[in-house]
Amino acid sequence: MEVLLALLMALVAAGIPAGPGGERDEGVPIVLDRSDPLPGLPRIVGAADPRRPLVVLDPGHGGRDPGATSPFGGRREKDVTLAIATEIRDALAASGRVRVAMTREDDRYLVLKDRYEIARKMRAELFISIHADAAPANDGARGATIYTLSEVASDREAALLAEQQNRSDRIGGAELSGEAIVDRILIDLAQRESMNVSADFAALLKREASAYFPFRPDYHRFASLVVLKAPDVPSILFETGYLTNPVDTAYIDSPEGRRQIALGMKSAIETHFARRLVRVAAR
Ligand SMILES: [Zn+2]
Repeated sequence: MEVLLALLMALVAAGIPAGPGGERDEGVPIVLDRSDPLPGLPRIVGAADPRRPLVVLDPGHGGRDPGATSPFGGRREKDVTLAIATEIRDALAASGRVRVAMTREDDRYLVLKDRYEIARKMRAELFISIHADAAPANDGARGATIYTLSEVASDREAALLAEQQNRSDRIGGAELSGEAIVDRILIDLAQRESMNVSADFAALLKREASAYFPFRPDYHRFASLVVLKAPDVPSILFETGYLTNPVDTAYIDSPEGRRQIALGMKSAIETHFARRLVRVAAR
């Protein structure tokens, strides 16, 4: 690690431009190519102070990709995730401690890479992709699960999820190649840091949100999900509950359930950034 850091500092000293978003308030400056901005980045709500951390919420699926469909009422995942993300956004905005944006605010299709590229281009400090689970062969499965990135899918179910999520990009027919990499080492460093922060946030979310909604016993899983692959933005995929379970469906698709999810998520997000502020101040 020391060797990589020394190399990184040497590269920075050699004058590689930091570019927009290259400097962070804490830690090592991260140099990444953020050229070719997407037109029309989403609006930001919440804290007016641009120094406040930005959270990007990503309602899973959308448009011609409905995601899972509940056998209990026929609700589609893309609609459930949009309603939940909107509730979380509104709770964060009302509190005013962070800034918040959504990758989509209506029923539209986005390829997976564009979802995290929005977070990168906006210099988000946390990316949360919202989903609802499905286990058609096991309607007893219920509870929330948090996924963070792993190079190797940790088990068969995670691998299956990775396959399903990644297939979404092929539906769009968008090219996934062409990731703009200035330097592989810098990407690896940023990725490692992001994975650590993501795992910390997963544990914090479980701790803060358990009072509000149930988690699966094995609540934190690792998978190679495309949507989590922003190298420089800590990212989680949050499966709120099972659309194939009647109790979960009634909960996550109700105003009260959404409110509870938003309260738990808000508590975790605000605690996460308060902790990081304390850590920076202690340096
Ligand atoms: Zn999904």
